[in-house]
Amino acid sequence: MHRLYEYGDIAVFWDSEKCRHRKMCVTGSPRTFEFGRRPWIDLTKAPTAEIWETISKCPTGALSCVYTHNVTTELDMDNCRSVAFTSSEDGVRQQTGECDFKKTEEGWTIYHTEVAPEFEGKGIAKRLVYRLVEAAEREGAQIIPVCSYAKRVLDAGKDREQ
Ligand code: SF4
Repeated sequence: MHRLYEYGDIAVFWDSEKCRHRKMCVTGSPRTFEFGRRPWIDLTKAPTAEIWETISKCPTGALSCVYTHNVTTELDMDNCRSVAFTSSEDGVRQQTGECDFKKTEEGWTIYHTEVAPEFEGKGIAKRLVYRLVEAAEREGAQIIPVCSYAKRVLDAGKDREQ
């Protein structure tokens, strides 16, 4: 299971397959991480610095995080994609990236991920992939990553120490 949480200046990824329940997160920021609560991660409960430090101690890499860089991500199901935007103070939105998929009988095929060059290296593409994968998992659809970047994200860390 893949989950993406975004709030303020931090975006948090959680990959349940790597989670070994050593509970360092619960100890490090008990207001943020609480097993049994839904959602079990609530980024509104503690300062970013506390959350960041706690995530850095996750022993398996199940948790990771990036700064949002004032970019938000959302699903655009009408166009089969997730999209990243920046917003100006007067509310004008500028697209900074997208991740596209096709629905087939086999599942959701992710075939393209792209981020504007000035926003590369900020974890935005990973957020876009997670946004789609989370939605597919909630629908019970299989993910078929044809896009090499999406495949790398989903394969990342499979050979880590667990
Ligand atoms: S510290 Fe990491 S591995 Fe341990 S319970 Fe939390 S998310 Fe899972």
